[in-house]
Amino acid sequence: MPASTNTLLTALLNSSSEHLLVTAEDHRIREAGSCFLRFVGEEREALLGRPCYEFLLLEGGAAMEQALAAEGSWQGQLLLRDRYRNTVLHTVTLHSVVLAGEPCRLWIMRPVDSPVEVAERRPQYDLLTGLPSRVLFMDRAEQAMLNSRRHRQSVAFLSLGIDGFSRINDGLGHEFGDHVLKETGQRLKGALRNSDSIARMGGDQFDCVVVMTSPDDGVVVTEKLLRALKQPFRLNGQDLTLTASIGISVFPADGDSADILIKQAESAMRHCKHTGGDSYQFFSSEMNERARRRIDLENALRQAIEQQQFLLYYQPKVDVRSGAIVGAEALIRWQHPERGMVQPGEFIPVAEESGLIGPIGAWVMREACRQNRTWLKGGLGAVCVSVNMAAPQFRERDIVAQVAAILAESGLPAKLLELEITEGLLIGDLDAIEEKLHGFRRLGLKIAIDDFGTGYSSLSYLSRFPITTLKIDRAFIHDLENNRSTAEIARAIIGLSRGLDLEVVAEGAETAEHIQFLTEQGCGTVQGFFYSRPLPAAEFEVMLRRGTVR
Ligand code: C2E
Ligand code: MG
Ligand code: MG
Repeated sequence: MPASTNTLLTALLNSSSEHLLVTAEDHRIREAGSCFLRFVGEEREALLGRPCYEFLLLEGGAAMEQALAAEGSWQGQLLLRDRYRNTVLHTVTLHSVVLAGEPCRLWIMRPVDSPVEVAERRPQYDLLTGLPSRVLFMDRAEQAMLNSRRHRQSVAFLSLGIDGFSRINDGLGHEFGDHVLKETGQRLKGALRNSDSIARMGGDQFDCVVVMTSPDDGVVVTEKLLRALKQPFRLNGQDLTLTASIGISVFPADGDSADILIKQAESAMRHCKHTGGDSYQFFSSEMNERARRRIDLENALRQAIEQQQFLLYYQPKVDVRSGAIVGAEALIRWQHPERGMVQPGEFIPVAEESGLIGPIGAWVMREACRQNRTWLKGGLGAVCVSVNMAAPQFRERDIVAQVAAILAESGLPAKLLELEITEGLLIGDLDAIEEKLHGFRRLGLKIAIDDFGTGYSSLSYLSRFPITTLKIDRAFIHDLENNRSTAEIARAIIGLSRGLDLEVVAEGAETAEHIQFLTEQGCGTVQGFFYSRPLPAAEFEVMLRRGTVR
């Protein structure tokens, strides 16, 4: 496109007070006006290339396609999702256009009415915040309980009150008070998942129903809500920091009617306020005990990072024919001053949910690289050490740069470092994932899929992503003797890796029979208790010096 056209288009897109969007034929976003960017709360660069249906709810698209084909344009109404994940009805005009020789679509969109007008027409909504009001909330709560009963899940009822709200209202004026309530509503909504509901119950009280997918979900969501309110509130150049109290009751443990569960959550919230606020409390003492243990664990983990209580153990990967050590997996251990050695299964999940996995993962990577470089310099032979990377860590925007910096600082050749990731990490924005994986490969790292065969994702990613290694999950190896179908799966994975020219490593081999089966199937590299348990660095070093496990 000539520069002048480009400039003209940009000027047009950004001067309009309507929401403007240009999409390609595959529905991916090519251009967006500044008004639309503000509405969805995204930067232009982050938006380009993403499918437009992340933001436009395209239902009944057939009529639209017909009109476009016949007349080159379409008019109608669509729901748009804003930065707070509210859906707002828009009048839309859609045109077929050609941009730089490519057939595209230009979307011109204008909200049908303001959120307040919407609320006026529909009394189930709260006038000030546009959130559901108590009536609609009760309905949704009953619905969530019905669904959960079917799936045998629990539902948490959260009741949130802003600490000292009347003081804010009296001291800073009603305008500020209203602003705080509106903003609170939006922030809370933004922190919840689509499957959860929120309502303003009146005054400064906001209630949520949260479908719990794990026993700690209630706590995880509650902490997220409290964090969302920690940012200062600002109006007319004035800043205010506030805190809130949350009470929680759980269906079906605490009761089975929405009315009762809401009252219980409110009572727990009031109790929380009386004991100083800025915190949360469960209605039942049993859940409080659970929450307390979790908070203790999180605090202990924070301390563990500061006081460097972590260690790495190393488990050899062995060539089945020669018994030679061809690699090792670095596995974290937590040397707790009172509890003794804590296994990763007990703290990695909590670290992932609380955001502590970032610094922990970075430490693991740095320590594994430093240690391996020391062995290499000591002439112990070059072994590739693999490091596990958790999903939240992988999703950090600059993770490739972080790893590059750690490698450079350690002086370890990149080919002696492998990342172990799980299949669950390979869903979401596939382009971004692919870009990161290529980034790691460009550095020279190997990439293994850990626990292969247990994830849900499709196999097609194996050809799309630049993966070097498959690690057969230990569940398949463990069951070999008793279960013919797991043996078949193990066999199939080995065949698959050969067909795709990938390395394959079997995890969890414990017996001579396991080794025999794997050797027969052509899996030459094995990691398991049969050869060695994970060992402290000094003990692994002795083994490495010998070169073989025996
Ligand atoms: P993983 O990455 O699949 O690691 C292999 C686990 O299998 C290790 O458990 C290892 O001790 C165990 N294992 C190996 N051979 C055998 C065997 O023959 N029999 C049996 N029963 N088990 C065997 P570990 O060290 O407790 O680690 C558990 C999980 O914790 C790891 O599974 C990994 O997902 C996670 N993890 C460990 N270290 C880290 C770390 O530094 N960062 C992250 N993000 N996750 C880690
Ligand atoms: Mg692993
Ligand atoms: Mg594994």
